[in-house]
Amino acid sequence: MNHAVYMDHNATSPVRAQAAVAAREALDLVGNASSVHRFGCLARRTVEEAREQVAALAGVEPEGVVFTSGGTEANHLALKGLRASRVLASAVEHPSVLKARDDIEIIPVDGEGIVDLKALDSMLAEGNGPTVVALMLANNETGTIEPVARAAEIARRHGALVHCDAVQALGKVPVDVTALGAHTVSASAHKLGGLPGVGALILAQPVDLIPQLRGGGQEQGLRAGTENVPGIAAFGVAVAAAASEFGHAAGLAKLRDRLETTVRRAAPEVRIIGAGAERLPNTSLMVIPGRKGATQVMALDLAGVAVSAGSACSSGTPRPSHVLRAMGYDDDLAEGAIRISLGWSSRMEDIDRFLDAWAEIRSGDVEGGFEVQPAA
Ligand code: PLP
Repeated sequence: MNHAVYMDHNATSPVRAQAAVAAREALDLVGNASSVHRFGCLARRTVEEAREQVAALAGVEPEGVVFTSGGTEANHLALKGLRASRVLASAVEHPSVLKARDDIEIIPVDGEGIVDLKALDSMLAEGNGPTVVALMLANNETGTIEPVARAAEIARRHGALVHCDAVQALGKVPVDVTALGAHTVSASAHKLGGLPGVGALILAQPVDLIPQLRGGGQEQGLRAGTENVPGIAAFGVAVAAAASEFGHAAGLAKLRDRLETTVRRAAPEVRIIGAGAERLPNTSLMVIPGRKGATQVMALDLAGVAVSAGSACSSGTPRPSHVLRAMGYDDDLAEGAIRISLGWSSRMEDIDRFLDAWAEIRSGDVEGGFEVQPAA
């Protein structure tokens, strides 16, 4: 089925045309980027150009960019590689952070999903030993922005290091990595129009990092393995394209706000999660009380609109989102969430198409439709 309308950029963003061209061109480079012959040198040049592009987006020196196989690996490299006997992570982190170690201590969040800085301060005061604080910049489900710089200031006072998963923020909003105060920052290419399977750990401050993949000297000895030259080339080009679009962020927020305003007007019981906090301009997580997110997603899919359920879905079993649970929502509400996430390819027509489909589904005209219950 042809999905004319794609509104799931937080899951993965369509590959940008320029990025696809860069990947195809890089496929013609025969060389291994570590080889000394001319083919190898050309591949190396492509990798280093991309490193400069990613470094420019983050505002760091190129040496501070370690290419990885994606955001998941970047989070693992930071949380296993930084020498720490304790890792504290916010309750709303991505599973690739929460599962990176078995001994992670959870920092609570408030009803908007924002980390409790007082709790962070006391947790840091209580324990001792080298500690890493993991706090994401923007949440993948709600789009809410975490106070990373303030958390980093608290961490600094306690001598703790900070890792920031900026996978959802980088390329969507300008991020001055240095100003965040984090030591390490994760990025992922496929969230901003590059290819899946490529990412980076950005070293924003000097750190002692234990490589997790060993057996090669690539990436300054911090990540062994032959570089994915086409993926890295596409990452660099996608990053540059994303950076050139920051001026349109207000346009994206306008699309999102029109969607939310129209839905709320039609169904006042709909809850927009995280709307009371600062959010990414592209993300809307809405809950219709009493309705399953998965059912809504299927009905919208039948109507040609691709969004995702707010609940995590692993091995085919939808479970209530740990993010919404941490924010204090009960399982029934948490299961009713759908996430609409816009991006570089989104247009006003997409919003209209969503709203038409949503209204039709709501009135029960479409198979799998749902009725909106009056607010309790
Ligand atoms: N961190 C966040 C906040 C994410 O949303 C994701 C992907 O959904 C990841 C990390 C993992 O990134 P990747 O898919 O590149 O491994």
